[in-house]
Amino acid sequence: MNSYQQAQTAIPCTNPANGEYLGDVAIDTPDDVKAAVARAREAQKAWANSTFKQRRAVLNHISDYILENVDDVCELIVKDAGKTYENALLGEVMPTCNKIKWLNKYGEKHLKSEKVGSGLLMHKKGRIEYVPLGVVGCIIPWNYPLQNIISSLVAPLMAGNAVILKPSEQVAFASNKFVKITNQALEKEGFSKDTVQLVQGYGDTGAALISARVDKILFIGSVGNGRRIIQASAEHITPVVMELGGKDPMIICDDAHLEKAVHSAIGGCFINLGQNCVASERIIVMAPMYDKFCQRAGEIANSLRQGEAKRGGNVDVGAMTTPIQVDITEKLVTDAIAKGATVLAGGKRPEGNGCFYPPTILTDLTDDMDIVTTEVFGPVMLVFKANDEEHAIAMANDSNLGLQSSVITHDRARGDRIASRIESGAVCINDFGLCYVNQDLPFGGTKYSGYGVMNGRDGLRAYTTPKAILADRFPLEIPPALFPVGSKDYDSAKASMRLLFGRGIGYRLKNLMALIGVSIMAKFSK
Ligand code: NAD
Repeated sequence: MNSYQQAQTAIPCTNPANGEYLGDVAIDTPDDVKAAVARAREAQKAWANSTFKQRRAVLNHISDYILENVDDVCELIVKDAGKTYENALLGEVMPTCNKIKWLNKYGEKHLKSEKVGSGLLMHKKGRIEYVPLGVVGCIIPWNYPLQNIISSLVAPLMAGNAVILKPSEQVAFASNKFVKITNQALEKEGFSKDTVQLVQGYGDTGAALISARVDKILFIGSVGNGRRIIQASAEHITPVVMELGGKDPMIICDDAHLEKAVHSAIGGCFINLGQNCVASERIIVMAPMYDKFCQRAGEIANSLRQGEAKRGGNVDVGAMTTPIQVDITEKLVTDAIAKGATVLAGGKRPEGNGCFYPPTILTDLTDDMDIVTTEVFGPVMLVFKANDEEHAIAMANDSNLGLQSSVITHDRARGDRIASRIESGAVCINDFGLCYVNQDLPFGGTKYSGYGVMNGRDGLRAYTTPKAILADRFPLEIPPALFPVGSKDYDSAKASMRLLFGRGIGYRLKNLMALIGVSIMAKFSK
């Protein structure tokens, strides 16, 4: 945090495409954050006792509101994040409503108490109860202002928790409006709006949320800040889910359909101008396809229309969301060009106002270029040539990051074979990013991309404590009398172990006889 931010009491919000001032958002102090957590803790008591029917109703109100007001919602996203209307709709509204639909269909099934076996303890029965944690803190980035807010909160909410969100300072304006959708939905069903709250500010507001002792943190953001959050979470032993950056590879096999492969790469890389954790930043093309791929990808990237999105369809790609991200992108590309990279498209920041950087394709990349290993989180496609399948897999795995990945091939067996060898949290065969859309799948990374998952059954149960209950199967209530220890207890326990866990019928029969013998001796020695 710099001294300017320290003195600030509000975040000035602007439209990144044209600099238009949108308004100020007040910054919450550490005391405000503590008070918000206390209110959430109180509100959660009633919410934890809500029925699944009530929870579904709240989630439905959120989804209904978004769909009924979709033009206004998209306009707000476009103004605060600079993206296109199409990306607001397909990249934000669709996954958000899809997640709500999934939670409403499967949430109860995955959260209700579950019977399990009782193993050796035949007189007992076991069950798992998924108990809400309490207050979940979500510290989130700026790339999908609606999606990051709503999709982060609905799973912990469905699991019976209160939620405090700390959105990115870069999209504070839209975030304030979007959280109100949830507040209204809660109030409609008779629950306190304090069940879901927002705290606004820079990184130190996120740090204050961790210090205020929430029961779990979902952190979605950069690897560097992820490390800071892990360190801070040690203070109260707060569990964390880490959804961090990526440098996702897309392997294009030599049998792939050229046009489909190029569109997969262009989509995977330039959707939301690469400001996508699962952007396909590294395109690894097998040698026989390489030249044709580069030529066609260059043609398409050079033809993309960039500018301010004023309505659906007036541009292909919009502005980047933050000037900082434009600077990062420019620096990485400039370094690569200076070290010998070839530019097939873009590669130069345009003159004029607005956070613009053009779709860029670089080839002839070498290991001394920072861009080869650093996440760009901007509109840059790096194209590498692989000699064969083995080489392509080795290149894909040559990264500290392992979020998602793609394989493009006509050969299904080959796709499965390559997918099983890529080191990442997910592999999408013949597409990009769709693993996130399938809510039945877990979403998360490996290596420095983080740990824990957001989606699917495990992502939902992550917002609960799986509480083990062992109850009587029959009304016998027999506690074993272990004391005083008898002279034959050790021998009978030994025979019992061998009877229960030994292998081979003969061995077990022998120990059954031993157990009977020891029991008779024990009876007579009393
Ligand atoms: P960031 O790490 O700069 O910020 C993320 C959030 O953390 C913001 O709300 C920020 O204010 C807050 N923060 C910053 N310092 C903090 C601190 N010390 N303590 C607590 N909170 C702090 O990330 P960003 O620039 O907003 O987002 C881009 C990054 O997020 C990229 O690396 C991208 O790959 C990653 N990302 C990952 C996923 C995923 O699901 N894996 C999804 C989207 C984005």
